[in-house]
Amino acid sequence: VMSAAESAEREADRRERVFAAAQERYYENPPQIERGWQQFLVATDGRCHLDMVNNVSAIGHSHPRLSRAIFDQMQLLNTNSRFLYRALADLSERLVALAPDPSLDTVLLVNSGSEAVDLALRLAQMHTGRRTVVALREAYHGWTMASDAVTTSAYDNPFALANRPDWVTVVDAPNSYRGRHRGAQAGAEYLVDFTQQLNALQETDAAQRGELPDDAQGVAAFICEPILGNAGGVVLPVGYLAGVYADIRARGGLCIADEVQVGYGRLGEHFWGVQQQGVVPDIISVAKAMGNGYPLGAVITRREIAESLAREGNFFSSAGGSPVGSVAGLAVLDVMRDEGLQENARLVGGHLVQRLTELAAKHPLIGAVHGLGLYLGVELVRDRVTLEPAAAETAAICERMRELGVVVQPTSERQNVLKVKPPLCLTIESADFFIDMLDEVLTRGW
Ligand code: PMP
Repeated sequence: VMSAAESAEREADRRERVFAAAQERYYENPPQIERGWQQFLVATDGRCHLDMVNNVSAIGHSHPRLSRAIFDQMQLLNTNSRFLYRALADLSERLVALAPDPSLDTVLLVNSGSEAVDLALRLAQMHTGRRTVVALREAYHGWTMASDAVTTSAYDNPFALANRPDWVTVVDAPNSYRGRHRGAQAGAEYLVDFTQQLNALQETDAAQRGELPDDAQGVAAFICEPILGNAGGVVLPVGYLAGVYADIRARGGLCIADEVQVGYGRLGEHFWGVQQQGVVPDIISVAKAMGNGYPLGAVITRREIAESLAREGNFFSSAGGSPVGSVAGLAVLDVMRDEGLQENARLVGGHLVQRLTELAAKHPLIGAVHGLGLYLGVELVRDRVTLEPAAAETAAICERMRELGVVVQPTSERQNVLKVKPPLCLTIESADFFIDMLDEVLTRGW
């Protein structure tokens, strides 16, 4: 009989043989996970792990209401969105009702975050008749050709900075913890840089692309996450997004909010990240939590922008907006409402921030606690003045945390931030367990 450890090793070997090297996995010696339940992951050796990383499983793992809804619909009908069925309109109307502004009244359903970003970029380019897209440094937006082109995190794409397609312009991430500008004036200072860089871009455009008609010069869109997710949940400086959106609109461009990771109730106080910055985007891309692991994504935009797709033909995604996908999306929203998960994110997230802040007072390795609600980042530094990233420490701490029963992983380009984005059903008890184990590791060593 094979032991659980031998079985896990065998699965790791099988995986290595058929997966590409770029498909990374968690842990040197990963547990073989067999079952998920709420905020827990159970391995074949019988051990239960507290899951602090699965933001896709927003309503918790294996939620019975979601499983039931998918099963029932699968037995009834699953086909494409060219047919009429109620769940399609139900889900689209729910999304419009949830949108941060009534102007966002049109929905396109897809299957993933990458697809939602890809489509958002395409809509912006078609609507404006321009190509240039401005993206922030250190961002992750997806794996498709277009969403990868605006992915600027060197960790996710080592060629991200060197071989960028000519339609992408990259500006500094307004990281007021370790970026070029810090402190209370950071927002205004980043905005000055932003405007200067875009002015320069427009001048080069005019000179280099003189052959293009006038309306093809200038910016099609600006895209960013309303909280810097990939950088570890860094909240944008006050007023930054309002200033950037105003600048982009003055140039005739559109503003895309990538809410795939930070939106959909996770921030607690706000359903969408843009609400935290008090802005209304022209296009929202959303996915992950929408289907709780069932592939589902959406673009929410204004009707006039969506209409520009019709100029070049139809838009159709075989499984996007299928009956099963729509029913899954509705079940997730029902559970979020009935179980008060956004409010839970606010309460438990607030508790985590308070306890993490106390830990930071005790352990100098914790340089900062980023984020809001249940989208947090614990940034580990070797020195609070130089902010030298504690990447090796972060990796070792994650391995040790797993031994203690907590799944937590590094993020950011520097791999020195513990990403904290658990299912939204996280309890205070589980939050305390995570903090106590982190305290233990930071106190006794890893
Ligand atoms: N945008 C953001 C901000 C993301 O975090 C991700 C996924 N990590 C994506 C887009 C792409 O989503 P998907 O993996 O569903 O294609």
